[in-house]
Amino acid sequence: MIGWRRTALDALGSETFDLVVIGGGINGAGIARDAALRGMRVAVLEQGDFASGTSSRSSKLIHGGLRYLEHGHLRLVLEAARERERLRRLAPHLVRPMRFVFPLYAGMSLRPWMLRVGLWTYDVLAGVRDVKRHRMLRAGAVAALEPSLRREGLRGAGEYWDCWTNDARLVLETMLSALQAGAVAVNYAQVVGFEKVGGWVAGVRVRDRVDGGAVSVRGRAVVNAAGPWGDQVNALDTPDQPARLRLTKGVHIVVPRARIGHEAAIALQAVRDRRVMFVIPWETHSLIGTTDTDHVGGPDAPPTVEPSDVAYLLETVNHYFPQARLGVDDVVSTFAGLRPLVAPPPGARTSPSDVSREEEIVTAASGLVMIAGGKLTTYRLIAARVVDRAIDVLRASGDARRFAASSTAEAPLPGGRVPPETLAADLAARDGHGLSPEALRHLTGRYGGRAVEVLALLARDRGLGAPLLDALPDARAEVVASVEAEYAMTLEDVLRRRTQVALFDPTQGSAVADAVAALMAPALGWSPGAAQAAVDAYAAARAAERRRWR
Ligand code: FAD
Repeated sequence: MIGWRRTALDALGSETFDLVVIGGGINGAGIARDAALRGMRVAVLEQGDFASGTSSRSSKLIHGGLRYLEHGHLRLVLEAARERERLRRLAPHLVRPMRFVFPLYAGMSLRPWMLRVGLWTYDVLAGVRDVKRHRMLRAGAVAALEPSLRREGLRGAGEYWDCWTNDARLVLETMLSALQAGAVAVNYAQVVGFEKVGGWVAGVRVRDRVDGGAVSVRGRAVVNAAGPWGDQVNALDTPDQPARLRLTKGVHIVVPRARIGHEAAIALQAVRDRRVMFVIPWETHSLIGTTDTDHVGGPDAPPTVEPSDVAYLLETVNHYFPQARLGVDDVVSTFAGLRPLVAPPPGARTSPSDVSREEEIVTAASGLVMIAGGKLTTYRLIAARVVDRAIDVLRASGDARRFAASSTAEAPLPGGRVPPETLAADLAARDGHGLSPEALRHLTGRYGGRAVEVLALLARDRGLGAPLLDALPDARAEVVASVEAEYAMTLEDVLRRRTQVALFDPTQGSAVADAVAALMAPALGWSPGAAQAAVDAYAAARAAERRRWR
């Protein structure tokens, strides 16, 4: 067994933790970090890879949520807009401002004055304005800024600013910070039951999904941050409870940006049902999404991308960008995620898009604290509230210790102490480890200050500075860093969440799976046979996904 995993599992089996967190998505990572920074002894258990659930399948926006104004969810927008500013300061490499254009066309029920009022409110709610204010644009100005947009019927646009992130890496850095603060976190470790004393939750039973072993983890308080699996985990505590969650599926597709020719992120009303969707510039590509449909089959039925999902998204893009003429063959990659939304009251006939995005924190009679719903954007704030609740649980069980107040509002993420541009320029001014300025910008953009840790690997082997694929910036050193410093266990962990090869490469990284497995093998102790089996399984899974939506 790998060293870090053995140490972590030993600690899990032998200590009593102040807080056990079930789930290593953005909420679990945020809660673990908040609690560990307050001085609590924390354990995190994740059944798959960190961020492998919803938290790597989002639209990647750190945003106030303009759309929620329409539904009157002012508190949500206010908190989200303020969190956006805060995260930008705490993780400038991961949370970056992005310009949005919302074009208005003849026949749309959204009138220019409505959009103006909405954007004005949005600016006001954001309070401190690091991100720029909105402006309204006439049709001519829109055409000059975004010449590929449909001209016919164009009335003007609202231009505003939100932020953009790398969701999987936001989770990872939050988790790394929790670990630095003393938490123990293990991926591929599934909670399969609860330990109770007098009806009170006193720990969890865990199955190690790597070697099939079992361990019981004692915890004075336990949080269910299992996202879409939240009801399933609640059922392990008290069977036959009514569902708290409604799961809806959201699909995104990735296409080459040059085919669309947009500069800003574009907010569009879907042709078919007028839902708002986005075309977001993502390096050399565009991220298009999302759909919003009810998911059947529960969280263990993986959300799949269907031909109808791809057609829905392409239809709208092709309508508003008539020269794009995108077809299914132009789609480079796709992904689908499940929104763990708080279920509306029984009997309410609410469409998926109208279900509230607000979160709920619930403490069960057993003391189990559950976080339901929420957004990537507000995770830091919600985590602090969940930890307060967990401390209430400790108090209720007679634990009178005092813990510090939450400090995450002022504590940068590990890579966030230096602006990435400053670091890239500094590194280039020194020898830059022989890398080009673009390669240095890529690394500092992804890792922030932690880029120096990745670069340190080049001292071992200069060849690690080379990219995995000519067309993409992801470096071989990143694979080694993934397994040695970021807890990656599988090819998918590396290619989809530590790097983004699977999202930008038309083979989803299958073409380089051999090389990646060879780089991973020493740290994971893979034999040549095990490495080949991993490559084959990875390629087969990607081919099956592709066959499904094509
Ligand atoms: P998850 O990320 O799913 O994490 C829960 C984890 O618990 C999983 O990794 C799972 O494996 C683990 N788990 C489950 N059961 C067990 C068990 N028994 N033992 C151990 N581990 C377990 N938000 C934004 O702010 N901006 C956006 O642009 C945005 N876009 C979105 C687009 C889509 C299509 C979707 C679906 C969501 C979007 N969201 C967005 C919302 C946001 O992504 C989610 O609210 C957030 O990621 C949920 O995080 P989570 O930690 O609760 O769930």
